[in-house]
Formats: sequence, C-alpha cells, structure tokens
Amino acid sequence: MEGKAWNFRANKAIDGSKLGIRTYIDILRSNIDHSDGRSVIPLSHGDPSPFPSFRTDPSAVDAVSEALRSANFNSYSSTTGLPLARKAIAEYISHDLSYKISPDDVYLTAGCAQAIEILISVLAFPGANILLPRPGYPIYDCRASFAGLEVRYFDLLPEKDWEVDLDAVESLADDKTVALVVINPGNPCGTVWSRQHLQKIAETARKLGTLVIADEVYERFAFGRNPFVSMAEYAEIVPMIKLGAISKLWFVPGWRLGWMVTLDPLHIIKDSGLLGSLENFLNMTTDPVTFIQGAIPDIIGNTKEDFFSSKLNLVRECAEICYEEIKKIPCLNCPSKPQGSMFAMVKLNLSLLEDIGDDMDFCCKLAKEESVFILPGRAVGMENWVRITFAVELESLIEGFARLNDFAQRHTKK
Ligand SMILES: *Cc1c(COP(=O)(O)O)cnc(C)c1O
Repeated sequence: MEGKAWNFRANKAIDGSKLGIRTYIDILRSNIDHSDGRSVIPLSHGDPSPFPSFRTDPSAVDAVSEALRSANFNSYSSTTGLPLARKAIAEYISHDLSYKISPDDVYLTAGCAQAIEILISVLAFPGANILLPRPGYPIYDCRASFAGLEVRYFDLLPEKDWEVDLDAVESLADDKTVALVVINPGNPCGTVWSRQHLQKIAETARKLGTLVIADEVYERFAFGRNPFVSMAEYAEIVPMIKLGAISKLWFVPGWRLGWMVTLDPLHIIKDSGLLGSLENFLNMTTDPVTFIQGAIPDIIGNTKEDFFSSKLNLVRECAEICYEEIKKIPCLNCPSKPQGSMFAMVKLNLSLLEDIGDDMDFCCKLAKEESVFILPGRAVGMENWVRITFAVELESLIEGFARLNDFAQRHTKK
C-alpha cells in the first residue's frame, strides 16, 4: 500500500562503533563452539556475583527483605534520594576520611553508571571537552559521544604502574575542558594510586581550572601495597564529584544503588551554578529503587568487617595466581601487578604467535577453541592488549589459565 514515508530512522548520535563492554562479550559468546561441552569461563567482565565464593553478605539480603516487608518503602523516592540513605552513605564515606561529609552533598543514583550518565549530560555544554583516561571505562566514552561532549584521552602509563600522564593532561586541556575523570582503584588496570599521585592529579586539575570526577566505585577494594586513599582528601585543592556504589564491594551490581557526592568546601561548584543544574537534572531522571534505598542503613551498618576482609583476601589470592600464571605464558605480559579492583591489563606479544591478527582475533579464537572469555583491550581503549578479570571462583581461574596456556602454545610460532 502506498503511503507517506516514515518519519523515523536510525539515530546517528548513537554510534555503534563505540561498543560497550557487554557488546564485546556478546561477540565472544557468538564465537563459542558448543559442541565441546565444556563450561564457559568468564574472565571478561567484572561481576563475580554468580560465583558461590562471592555471594553477598546474608545481612545485606536480610536488610533488603526487611525493607520490603516493612511496607515503608513502596513510594516514590525524592529526586536526591531518601534522607536516611543519604545519611548512611555520608557516614560510610566519611569513615576513612579526615573530615565529615554532609548527607546534603550525597545524591543517590541507579548504580554508578547512572551517576556517569547524569554528570556527562549536565557537563555537555556546546564546545566543551572532557579528559578521559586511556585505558578507561567505556560508559564515559559512549555517553560523552552521545551528549556531543568532545573526548580527549590522556594515557595511563604502564611503565609507571599506570599513573596518569600528567604532562599529557596539561597539554590536552584548554579553557573548554570541563572535567578530568580519574578511576581509582583502577578499572581496567588494577591500580591503587599513592597519596602523592592523587595530590598531583588534584594540583594539575586546579591549575587547569577543571572539575575532577573521581570514580571510586572500587572504593576500599584494595589488597596490595598501597592502601586505598580517597581523592576526597584533596577537595580543598580542587572541587570534585566523587562516584560510588554498593555494586562492587558488596558484589550486588544488580541492586542498582550508587551515588555521587559533591566535594566542594570552597563552594566553587555551587557558585558556578553547576550544582543547580545538577539538581534540576535529577528532576528528570529516574531514582534508584526505593526499598533498596530503605535497606541501605542496614546493608552498611550490619555487614561485618569480616565479610570484606575475607572477600578481599580471596581476591588477593586470585590476583596473585593470575599474575603468576601470566608470567608462564610467553606471549602475555602484565607490566604492573594488580593491587585493587578485579582486573589486570595484559599486553599481547603478537610477534610470537603465528595466526593471530590482533586482540579481537585473540579473544574470539580463545572463546571458540577454549570457551574462555577475556576482554579485547580495544573495548577499554588499548588495541593488542587484553583485560583479564581474576575475581572468579579459584577453580575456574586455574582452569581458565590452563586453557589459556594450551591456546597460547598451540598458536605459538614454531
Ligand atoms: C562497574 C563500574 C561502574 C558502574 O557501576 P554500577 O554501579 O554497576 O553502575 C562505573 N565505573 C567503573 C570504573 C566501574 O568499574
């Protein structure tokens, strides 16, 4: 039947070339050879929650079920979050800090990912640019490109334990640079930066007149040489917005509870008007589920220190095994031993391999031949590297490396 042409079409601003991590994992999944009957070993994404050893604390589950049964949390939340949840998070974050955070500075979001979406949207003025780390976390890139915010990449330096290349930051920035994003503990590099480095980052941002977005979703998720120190310690130097969530430390990414915290002792964010924009923007977003917010005081209050220490001990052991196993495989090189988060960045030496073209080819063939998933480095901005997640059940990790080792030997030049 003849009719008017349709008025809708593909949206070019939603750029398929900027794939998220889950899209890459779908590609790996489509490569699996199901006929060999072996289980898939997922060393590709940072969600160990399905593994028995990484089940969340029972007290957190009780907190949620009690919040639900109380019938006190069936309503809409307020746009900034329930006061009791904001207060609990302010206290939680203040615990390791040299000063106290006010609940008024805490804004609740549906996971840390929504905090990123909100911030990028609010910061995307015409002509503005944002500095992102490479390697980094792809949601920043996807969101910035959709919002029309220009992205400029600064390198993290593998030979310096993945510290920020601060000279590059200085040369990239101009008076349209609205923010500098730093992720510590690091995804994808497994870094935990020193106090000195954090301070230098803050001083550099101050010099450039740019806001710092401190993605600390892996807050306290540190098990190596450097203790976790929050960027919040340097808020007197430069205004910042700190991001977090219960997703990683409690192993419940599906609960979708995150936050952003404005750290603005000198009222720079407030006086600039940005805070008002942020609060207005929150009026047009959805809120995290109310009963999870209602459970937050007990999730935080009733989870014993033992839970975290036993989980971090396990992750430390996994990281240790991962690092040692990588050393046994000649085509892999991990320049810096992971000290936090769940990941190691590993360089491929393709010249040792006979029929592997690049990181994507390596990961697809590994998925096909061994049913092991690791993430191609290009997913986080570095071609011919891979990101390996070590926070999985120990047996799976060991089996995964045995298969990886077989794979590497089979493809090594004779
Ligand atoms: C997982 C992760 C996020 C998103 O956190 P959610 O709470 O799952 O939305 C943001 N930033 C980094 C660096 C992450 O690893």
